[in-house]
Amino acid sequence: MVKNTKLEPQIDISPIAEWNLNLNYPLIIAGPCSAESEEQVLAAAHALASDGRVKVFRAGVWKPRTRPGGFEGVGEKGLQWLKRVKDETGMAVITEVAMPQHVEQVLTQGIDMVWVGTRTTTNPFLVEQLASALAGTNIPVLIKNPITPDLELWIGAIERMWRSGITRLAAIHRGFHPYERSRLRNIPKWELVIDIKSRIPSLPIICDPSHIAGTASLVPEIAQRSLDLSMDGLMVEVHPNPVVALSDARQQLTPDAFLQMLSALTFHQSSSANTEFADFLEQVRNKIDSIDQQIIELLANRMRLVEQIGEYKRNNNVTIFQLRRWENILESRIECGKKLGLDEEYIKSLLQLVHKESIKKQAEILRGNRLTNGE
Ligand code: PEP
Ligand code: MN
Repeated sequence: MVKNTKLEPQIDISPIAEWNLNLNYPLIIAGPCSAESEEQVLAAAHALASDGRVKVFRAGVWKPRTRPGGFEGVGEKGLQWLKRVKDETGMAVITEVAMPQHVEQVLTQGIDMVWVGTRTTTNPFLVEQLASALAGTNIPVLIKNPITPDLELWIGAIERMWRSGITRLAAIHRGFHPYERSRLRNIPKWELVIDIKSRIPSLPIICDPSHIAGTASLVPEIAQRSLDLSMDGLMVEVHPNPVVALSDARQQLTPDAFLQMLSALTFHQSSSANTEFADFLEQVRNKIDSIDQQIIELLANRMRLVEQIGEYKRNNNVTIFQLRRWENILESRIECGKKLGLDEEYIKSLLQLVHKESIKKQAEILRGNRLTNGE
């Protein structure tokens, strides 16, 4: 276990097995991104319930859309549909709350659990209001990570719920918004998940591979990775007919694809009561793996920019190698590295390698042009 050097609030979350919801470990939550119609909700629910492994059915009824004008959810009537799911299938039901009024409606309708969405976790005022509205209920509250990789903000939201007397808490890891283009919709930054688990060892962590992947075909590999990191469960978006979904169509799995994925995944022996998340070496190696992945994605993004410049140089007949620019790069990066405790020679050789590859790429672009010009 990484030593906890910061002064942490004492947060001692009750294990999932004690949440009185007949939940299994690992916790499998599945269902559509949004409740769209009673038929769609019930079709998804019955297809999932027949399998027995899905203990919690999800569907958003209030949808926090980044831009206005899209489908913003069916609202309160969707809660009635979730009630039907609960009565007909026996699965517990969960939906997203983003405002105190949502909490009121959810409690009135007897919804079993709630999650706090990523955009809401980002706002401490709202989290505080939700925590007050939930005080005294002790229904399980699952808190998605904030949009940006800000561990303190995530912990802060959990702490606010805890201070309101809620002891059935879990974090949902759904990845962080990538500023740069990336293969995945959201960058997992697994090292942060390891950090939050080290900071609050009793905190169950549920992975949401759907919002990390952004594409249905990438969901299984993310789900497996989270299980390899001993996460406590999965929340996966499943829609009876993803192509016509009103939100997040690309990332939703059909019930069949989802159940196939569940059967193919390797679940490791672990338990949410187990405070030893992973041994020290494994934790650190997992963080290194995650950072290497990000370095490679950044190198790929850098190369795309180099290509753009290559095309610009070709079109404007500028030479590839610009001595002044190269000198500036070297100097400023070495300086930056030094401030971070990195050796000058190390940074220099790394940059030479990157630069050599950039020149090669630009030369290819220039040659391509010559060839198309018949030279
Ligand atoms: C969702 O779960 O459908 C959702 C809106 O997620 P997030 O808050 O992670 O974007
Ligand atoms: Mn969604």
